[in-house]
Amino acid sequence: MVVSSFVDGTDRRGLWTLAATGLCVVLGSTSVRGPAGIRVAVAAEGPAATGSDPALTPGGCPAGTAPDGTVCVHLAGGAEDGPLAPAVANVHREKSGRVAAYEQIPRLPDRPSDYDLYRYPVPPGIPGSHHVISGYDLDRPDPQQRRGRTLRHVGHGGVDLPQVKGTPVKLVVLEHQEGDAEVLYTGPLFGTTVVTRHTLREGGRLRDYVVLFGHLDSVAAGLAPGASVREGDVVGTVGDTGSPELVHLHLEIRRVREGVDVAKIPAGAPLLGEAISTVCDPRNVLPLAAAGR
Ligand SMILES: [Zn+2]
Repeated sequence: MVVSSFVDGTDRRGLWTLAATGLCVVLGSTSVRGPAGIRVAVAAEGPAATGSDPALTPGGCPAGTAPDGTVCVHLAGGAEDGPLAPAVANVHREKSGRVAAYEQIPRLPDRPSDYDLYRYPVPPGIPGSHHVISGYDLDRPDPQQRRGRTLRHVGHGGVDLPQVKGTPVKLVVLEHQEGDAEVLYTGPLFGTTVVTRHTLREGGRLRDYVVLFGHLDSVAAGLAPGASVREGDVVGTVGDTGSPELVHLHLEIRRVREGVDVAKIPAGAPLLGEAISTVCDPRNVLPLAAAGR
């Protein structure tokens, strides 16, 4: 399979060419087995896709969650692990005119859509304002994906968090994470970048995710590949490297493909290749703010 990568000065991700992959098929809802043999519904196409699954609660939410308004929220002490979100295909037209197909993992229906309900590596940039100024949009139809004047590429595979230059960026432990995170890479990527690996138990098995902290002003002193990092550990400071005059943290989360050992992958850009990892809506794995720490 042909994999190619692109850099636009802000974001970088691997994309499969439509010519290389042929037309894409969007996956429908499916299910996986949890550790106790419980069926856990997962769906790619929104809450309606789970409506008839017998594993759902009377309120229409997956096991371990409960309805709260229009969303399903995780219950304290509920399921030991979350459902394994399916990757789905999408297509967009790049600025060059080329139609590109790519895989991405959309937000699961049981995860709130409101970005402000999650906890991030930096506090809100302006008191009373929103955490996120530019959200994840690779799950949207092509016309609704981000097209900046100076951005060569279309769509946004992470969230942009505005903050004051120099603000410490602190690691957050992801949902269902087991053990400490590990630093995989520090150096130029999305500007100055730190990449960490997190192992999550979900869908009854362990899966690795990589988290990218981009556009940093600096990497934390002494932080190097192989280091263990825990909740609250500072990985760097907010900056505008690779994103001149737009000071913010680009936070991107990607699920490592099953069977891939990222410790054996050359550090840096190869981690982002479609053959290695799949870009993910960060709301699937970020902790909810209400959970506190
Ligand atoms: Zn960004």
